[in-house]
Amino acid sequence: MQIFTTIPGLRTFLADYRHDRSIALVPTMGALHKGHASLIRRAVAEAEITVVSIFVNPLQFAPTEDFSRYPRSLDSDRQLCESLGVAAIFAPSAETLGIGNSEDITAVIPPISLTSGLCGAFRPGHFQGVATIVTRLFNIIAPTIAYFGEKDAQQLAIIRQLVRDLNLAIEIRACATVRETSGLAVSSRNQYLSTAEREKATIIVKSLQLALESFHLGERQREKLLAIVQKNLDRVPEFRCQYLDLVHPQSLQPIEQIETDGLLAIAGSIGQTRLIDNIILRQRRAVIAIDGPAGAGKSTVTRLVAEKLGLTYLDTGAMYRAVTWLVVNSGLDLSAEAAIAELLSLAKIAIIPADSPENATIVKINGQDVTLEIRSPAITAQVSRIAAQKAVRQQLVTLQREMGMSGGIVVEGRDIGTNVFPEAELKIFLTATPEERARRRLKDLEAQGNGGISLAELTQEIEKRDYLDSNRSLAPLRKAADAIEVNSDHLSIAEVTEKIIALYHQGEENQWRSL
Ligand code: AMP
Repeated sequence: MQIFTTIPGLRTFLADYRHDRSIALVPTMGALHKGHASLIRRAVAEAEITVVSIFVNPLQFAPTEDFSRYPRSLDSDRQLCESLGVAAIFAPSAETLGIGNSEDITAVIPPISLTSGLCGAFRPGHFQGVATIVTRLFNIIAPTIAYFGEKDAQQLAIIRQLVRDLNLAIEIRACATVRETSGLAVSSRNQYLSTAEREKATIIVKSLQLALESFHLGERQREKLLAIVQKNLDRVPEFRCQYLDLVHPQSLQPIEQIETDGLLAIAGSIGQTRLIDNIILRQRRAVIAIDGPAGAGKSTVTRLVAEKLGLTYLDTGAMYRAVTWLVVNSGLDLSAEAAIAELLSLAKIAIIPADSPENATIVKINGQDVTLEIRSPAITAQVSRIAAQKAVRQQLVTLQREMGMSGGIVVEGRDIGTNVFPEAELKIFLTATPEERARRRLKDLEAQGNGGISLAELTQEIEKRDYLDSNRSLAPLRKAADAIEVNSDHLSIAEVTEKIIALYHQGEENQWRSL
């Protein structure tokens, strides 16, 4: 692991990777704890190169706040990053980031609608300070993906908007709040709390938990949900509540009733320490992401799991076929990537999932039903060339996410859990040894009358394909840090399906519903 304090040092280091590898950024103010570690772990699992920035940003502290006493611990931060597999730490000075004289800089001002409520109402200038520094870090590092904690929900919404408004080609990934066993959200500022205060501070999460329970029992009204939380907070008078609000998680505008999802957020102090916490109230059926190497039985199992659970099978393959059909029919050269990106951006693709496993996904392009055409041998022969194009992939991933937003889908691929639906409730990594996959393939080939290849040759072919799939620059096969591995070596298709269904039911019962 390397440590850089200058822009030329870091940029030169990253230049070697830039062409074909994904770069993750985890922006922090140091004093790293379990919460930061979970962001870093995910980054290391999901991208090839992880950079952690450590900068206590003076622009986000008001003169009355704790800038000078904010904890700083570069030595232990360095050790933690190293142990987690970080490639580089970027620890610049204020001068390096060009904010030596903070009066005289180009600032980034997020929309007032996002900064006027919640913490913004009590910390004027805070989010402008955050946005200004995060934009600089984004420009210096140009990461592929950047990781932020849901604990700072307002910051997360502002950064997402910033990336959209400034057309930055950076994917923002949100990570769930990490908590102490007591439930208290882990924070660098928790070290200011005495033992007694730490105990009192758990009233915040306990109150949020009560609201969550009430939400799951069907409560959707602002007034009722806030009253439940307020009444519980009142039990600990040492907690001086600054705000308690129910807002829309993206627009941050107060909501009267939860339609799809709501962000319930609290801030306040205990003693001298300001604490924040929040919870997303969202009821959706799960997204099940099934990744794994070719030949492990993913597509059959995925269809069966969808059917048995009454969920929708999202056929991503049909989407790539649809684009291939569009390109072939428009007469474009298959290698004309820019023209294809333009054509696809202007096209309307409608995917109507099949209502039973026997039926195909209905696909319409610009109103024309192409369900049958996309299965022709001519399209099958070309689809991998189209799927290997970055712009195609990006646009289809956006479409897949839109389709999965309200949940209730099962989807398979190589990077569904790591890239397409990193927030999926259940992630399965379905695998089998190359030998077993070769044995299954040989059986299929022989059944079709196409024997003549040895088991050893097939095994070698499969190993080669695994290597290529794991090392391709676009959508490499990777197991998500929180995926459950299912090895199908000694299991039938039915047994694998049952296993995944059991995991789904277990998840429904337990963790998806609690904090
Ligand atoms: P900070 O160093 O406080 O600026 O935090 C750096 C990043 O870590 C931000 O994206 C925070 O939202 C995230 N973070 C801080 N605490 C937690 C936590 N307990 N769980 C998850 N993420 C966190």
